[in-house]
Amino acid sequence: MSFATIYKNSIEQPEAYWDGEAKLIDWQQPYSKVLDYSKPPFTQWFVGGKTNLCHNAVDRWVATQGEKAALIAISTETGSEKVYSFKELQAEVSRTAAIMLALGVGQGDRVLIYMPMIAEAAFAMLACARIGAIHSVVFGGFAAHSLASRIEDAQPKLIVSADAGSRGGKAIPYKPLLDEAIALSAHKPGKVLLVNRKLAPMQLVDGRDVDYATLRTQHIDAQVPVTWLESNAPSYILYTSGTTGKPKGVQRDVGGYAVALASSMRSIFCGNPGETYFATSDIGWVVGHSYIVYGPLIAGMATIMYEGLPTSPDAGIWWSIVEKYKVTRMFSAPTAVRVLKKQPPECMQKYDLSSLKALYLAGEPLDETTSAWISEALGVPIIDNYWQTETGWPILSIARGIEDQPSKLGSPGIPVPGFNVKLFNESTGEECGTNEKGVVMIEGPLPPGCMQTVYGDDERYVSTYWSVLNGKHVYSTFDWGIRDADGYYFILGRTDDVINVAGHRLGTREIEESISSHANVSEVAVVGVEDKLKGQVAVAFVILKNPAAANTAEAQQALEKEIMGVVDHQLGAVARPARVHFIAQLPKTRSGKLLRRSIQAICEGRDPGDMSSIEDPASLRQIQGALGR
Ligand code: ATP
Ligand code: MG
Repeated sequence: MSFATIYKNSIEQPEAYWDGEAKLIDWQQPYSKVLDYSKPPFTQWFVGGKTNLCHNAVDRWVATQGEKAALIAISTETGSEKVYSFKELQAEVSRTAAIMLALGVGQGDRVLIYMPMIAEAAFAMLACARIGAIHSVVFGGFAAHSLASRIEDAQPKLIVSADAGSRGGKAIPYKPLLDEAIALSAHKPGKVLLVNRKLAPMQLVDGRDVDYATLRTQHIDAQVPVTWLESNAPSYILYTSGTTGKPKGVQRDVGGYAVALASSMRSIFCGNPGETYFATSDIGWVVGHSYIVYGPLIAGMATIMYEGLPTSPDAGIWWSIVEKYKVTRMFSAPTAVRVLKKQPPECMQKYDLSSLKALYLAGEPLDETTSAWISEALGVPIIDNYWQTETGWPILSIARGIEDQPSKLGSPGIPVPGFNVKLFNESTGEECGTNEKGVVMIEGPLPPGCMQTVYGDDERYVSTYWSVLNGKHVYSTFDWGIRDADGYYFILGRTDDVINVAGHRLGTREIEESISSHANVSEVAVVGVEDKLKGQVAVAFVILKNPAAANTAEAQQALEKEIMGVVDHQLGAVARPARVHFIAQLPKTRSGKLLRRSIQAICEGRDPGDMSSIEDPASLRQIQGALGR
């Protein structure tokens, strides 16, 4: 069947299409209904069916390929490298699951995972899945403040963490930040399970903190059976950076997610059992959930977890991994490729990369130069794919597992089966025609694997993402896009205010809130400014309560440093603004809304656009003045 026919079927007869795809996973009990869309926009997939993510990722493969590699944990930070077979992975996950049960964690309880890229992090995620606990992984680069708000929202019974991560050979302590976050949060976890890597000293809190290695030994022979879960039971919560300051907990199901991943592993990522997959992301992000941990394992592939920089010990490290483990499919981000582009070509050329079939890139727009360079250097197709934390798997791509269609430079591709993508004109609410810019939307029901709701807040889910247009429920991606005559989409940027620094997504609101906590800050605007290397960097414009505190160049510099320090401390260094400028007035609309996009335009040397709504045009000159223009 051609791609066009399959896609058409998936949209016109979603039940028949997904009933077919559901055969890619194991069900302990068959579902009675493929799709329940009786309460739109809420969607239930495979109603009544019972399955388990850990069973499909691990146990299922133990029978047929138990001795084959499942998890390959490599750290160039600590110089460790360990291959776990499916059988060994099952044993480790069982031990971790037994520890969790012993610590009082049961089905539906939340477990927050704040960990570096080590094997134990994957064990913890899979152990939660095994016993029906809901994990919430928080990116290790987030500091106390961000962590605290996530603890407060998810209310975990247990937190799994470690003494430290490591970056560029330097230990990054996690435990003090975690202690501070717990102190800040109104909710307190019952227990904290700590992996001691002996990278940084740790103070254990009596009665609360427990040592992973000790408990592992106690549960060394544990065999924890899988808890079969109704397909729509929640599997995990993953927080977005959140444009409103308060992060949204994206909640996902069990059965739909397993089916969507199995389906995408076949149709987009073309993964086969026994092969090796390498995604360079982090478990703190959605790519880490879908395509480091669950997706490859569900497809019976070995997956690589890599802790370390892409450039250390040298820029050949990724390619040496590809050679050594005969990686067939690799997943990364344009930012990372731009970093590698600056390195001498020998780094790549000296390795045998003949196992590699394709490189997948996602997370931000892929520019033509980067795409052409890496494609040429690797000699494999570069497959751009566009999606979101919310959708859990690609919306737009070229599904080469179905049909080998050409890609177009600058376009992530065409809608993947299951996603009914539409473009709407923001002001008229009408569907856009060919080559007409609009907001990228998805008509409900969303396919399996997408978010079920905002954790604990159905109302926020509906009001944030959904609208009714032409009588149909449509989900907004908050991205601008355009579709050409051949049906290829081009993503033109965001309609909200999230910035992307070196692949890390940060809400400008969150950074603003952090800066505002400095005693001398009265008002602040943070915008993302284009940066050749990092994609974007944060730049802050601050109005001081006491401007006299910054009346000399030295005083300004000192204050800038202080404010950066506040952000480092609360959110982590990834969120640190590249510059903090001090001004007397911020450009706002008459209704008091910050004209962020205009500030951004000035920073990037572009025209600030239609200024008819501005309250005081003089405020724009303030921005220009601060930038020395
Ligand atoms: P938040 O979590 O606050 O919503 P975020 O939207 O940056 O932040 P993600 O869900 O990880 O977090 O990122 C999804 C967004 O990244 C998309 O909405 C889009 O703006 C951008 N994006 C992802 N993939 C691509 C791509 N292939 N091409 C262009 N943009 C992309
Ligand atoms: Mg988003």
